[in-house]
Amino acid sequence: MRLILVGPPGAGKGTQAARLVEKYGIPQLSTGDMLRAAMAAGTPVGLAAKELVDGGKLVPDDVVVGIIRERIAEADARKGFILDGFPRTVAQADALAEMLQEGGLALDAVIELRVDQTKLVDRIMKRAADAAASGQPVRKDDDPEVFKGRLEAYNRDTAVVIPYYEKAGLLSVVDGMQSIDQVSADIESVLTNLDEKV
Ligand code: AMP
Repeated sequence: MRLILVGPPGAGKGTQAARLVEKYGIPQLSTGDMLRAAMAAGTPVGLAAKELVDGGKLVPDDVVVGIIRERIAEADARKGFILDGFPRTVAQADALAEMLQEGGLALDAVIELRVDQTKLVDRIMKRAADAAASGQPVRKDDDPEVFKGRLEAYNRDTAVVIPYYEKAGLLSVVDGMQSIDQVSADIESVLTNLDEKV
């Protein structure tokens, strides 16, 4: 299964993707996680991306497209994958379509986690507090001011990806303001219905 989770930062994409990994045994491909790993390892990509990521700005399309191209080619992604945080622009969506087509592959579904954006700053602050409490590193971009910029980037550059997939007949919307378990259950029912359609 090839799936995209889309929604603003803090919508719960990472949480839901992790649950889907468990259930379906396919990897979560999070460009945010990959960029943070590259930053921590000090690779050239990481060094170039650091300022943009820490500042809540989008990394150039060619950089993330390159990362995804390499990652999709790895053996564990052959059975399928869950994209989390990619594509974030129409150019990235076009590049993904092209690379899937080259491999004779297709997307099964795009699930939008629809949330009330006025509630997201609180969620992000909770994520930062939880990370600090459990001794995990706190993301530099989980800061109220930087977060505002990330939300602006989402509304300016990424929200247009939703009608893009709606036109392609791939979009399903799930209410991301529900409990984590209820969001998972709704995603499950979207995916079950796909199985029935096939
Ligand atoms: P995330 O973990 O998905 O919230 O991503 C954290 C940050 O990584 C974003 O604010 C961007 O700076 C960068 N990033 C992640 N994915 C992408 C992408 N697909 N396109 C551009 N920048 C990205």
